[in-house]
Amino acid sequence: MSSENRPPVSEILNVMPELAPYGKQAAMLYPVPGAPGVQDSSIGGPLLWPIEDTWPTCLVPDEEDESGFPPNAMVPVAQIFARDVPGPWWPAGFDLLQILWCPTNHWDPPRGQAGGSPVIELRWRRAADVRDVLTTPPQPDRYDSDDCYTLTPCTITAEPLVDFPFFDELPKELQPRLAEASKQIHPGGDVITCLAGWKVGGWPTWQATYPHSYLVPCTVCGTAMPLVFTVASDDRVGTNVGRFGELRLFICPDHHQTFQADVY
Ligand SMILES: [Zn+2]
Ligand SMILES: [Zn+2]
Repeated sequence: MSSENRPPVSEILNVMPELAPYGKQAAMLYPVPGAPGVQDSSIGGPLLWPIEDTWPTCLVPDEEDESGFPPNAMVPVAQIFARDVPGPWWPAGFDLLQILWCPTNHWDPPRGQAGGSPVIELRWRRAADVRDVLTTPPQPDRYDSDDCYTLTPCTITAEPLVDFPFFDELPKELQPRLAEASKQIHPGGDVITCLAGWKVGGWPTWQATYPHSYLVPCTVCGTAMPLVFTVASDDRVGTNVGRFGELRLFICPDHHQTFQADVY
């Protein structure tokens, strides 16, 4: 569901006060095709990339070329400035998050990344440290044949909200209460949980195929990694991940280079 018919959080909590401890800060991102610049938060837009940093390439064999050669240049997925999307997901000292992927399907992606999905790279930066900007990043040689990962540059607006978990994340006794509250708040469908779309923070929209209490541990410290970014399948942007599903990035708050990508 979208957040369109969602009442204010205070109203949701009036109906179901037991949900309060499960509220997580999030921001829904609404992309609009346009011409974002390197200083803008964007989806599929140009990145504020320091000229001295090597642009990421992917060497993982893909559907288009089993050898994985030549290395395929990655493409921007999202660039988020903290000023536009403030929240607890920012590691201390950083104010810019950049997400890139290799725009092909990989059946044998690196550890922690989902089979079939594009291979992901992340950069956390301090925007003020970027002096000379790379203006013409290398372009990929290979794209997935269904063109699922070629993004239309979009500017974004962010809507901060409190996200609530899907039934499976709640204790058993609260699950029927959530069903009742959900009907009471919006008879047309669930507007409390599983908000669909591009999102920073919040809860994953777990599907029935996932085991209860599925946690994604950090490979360095073992801590359960929170969801930091959700990539949506979106016609405006030209994305189709996990067959019109979502791609989720779980990132360790203490080891912010350690992440897991998951698609459904
Ligand atoms: Zn690749
Ligand atoms: Zn960690």
